[in-house]
Amino acid sequence: MDTSKYRLTGKKNISLKDFDPNETSAYEHSKKKAKEELTKIVAEISQLQEKLYAEGKQKLLIIIQTTDTGGKDGTIRAIFSGVNPQGVKVASFKVPTPIELAHDYLWRIHHLTPGKGEIVVFNRSHYEDVLAVRVHNLVPENVWSKRFQHIVEFEQLLADEGTTILKFYLHISKEEQAARLIERIMDPSKTWKFNPGDLEERKLWDDYRKAYEDVLNKTSAPQAPWFIIPANRNWYRNLLVASIIRDTLKDLNCKYPEIKEDLKPYFEILKAELDKAKIPLPSVPSPKPEEGDAEELVIEPDEN
Ligand code: AMP
Ligand code: MG
Repeated sequence: MDTSKYRLTGKKNISLKDFDPNETSAYEHSKKKAKEELTKIVAEISQLQEKLYAEGKQKLLIIIQTTDTGGKDGTIRAIFSGVNPQGVKVASFKVPTPIELAHDYLWRIHHLTPGKGEIVVFNRSHYEDVLAVRVHNLVPENVWSKRFQHIVEFEQLLADEGTTILKFYLHISKEEQAARLIERIMDPSKTWKFNPGDLEERKLWDDYRKAYEDVLNKTSAPQAPWFIIPANRNWYRNLLVASIIRDTLKDLNCKYPEIKEDLKPYFEILKAELDKAKIPLPSVPSPKPEEGDAEELVIEPDEN
């Protein structure tokens, strides 16, 4: 699946009207097939995450932004529900607390970025400080307008220190938002999510769109690209985001740590115990022949 056309690296400015939230052109098969494909990709992400953790060197930060009902929660659920919950953290950013507001806007963000071996997903992020804050006039323009540069430099710092960054803007249409809001009213299992305030936010649709365009144009960079994900169709949104995460994890080329010590003596001790108890050796799946890991799993004497 070629996802490159959705990736922005900051070379040329875009206008959101040129991006159709309904399109599904990078996937030629059926929706049913897409769901099977997603299950496969989620399993791959899970294995790749385990390797990232085992290697303990690299860090992945995934930022998800969208308007209300845009599908942040659904995307995170669809992709990470199959992943070891110890390996992935989700950080959700709500209206800042008084203590958070007493500091600069990146203060509450930085300590939640991933450490070595971790994946962190930001459900909203520091981008709210140039989106909600701008649209609601919470600080003057001469304050928020400087933040684009701070953010680019903050993300550059994270990248320079070994963090891979993916940023997803889930792009839905205004009509789709109306449909999703009314669904929340009609479906009792979703009514808890209905917030009358979302209708007030909806009145600011055009302001948000302009603010998002500025975000996409001013903060896309090769080391911290934005992806504009057509998100009116959940199955396509999930498939695209999952594919991009899977491909990125693959490119990190994580390796299980090299075992320097000779493990044979330990093996012999434990085997003698099992033999004595007449317990057969456990059957261990033979390592997959991919990516040249096989030799790392074989017990061999240390040459030093
Ligand atoms: P939700 O994600 O729907 O639970 O809502 C969280 C709310 O917090 C949204 O209305 C955001 O716009 C708001 N929010 C998040 N971060 C900030 C911020 N830095 N400043 C102001 N509002 C924010
Ligand atoms: Mg909301």
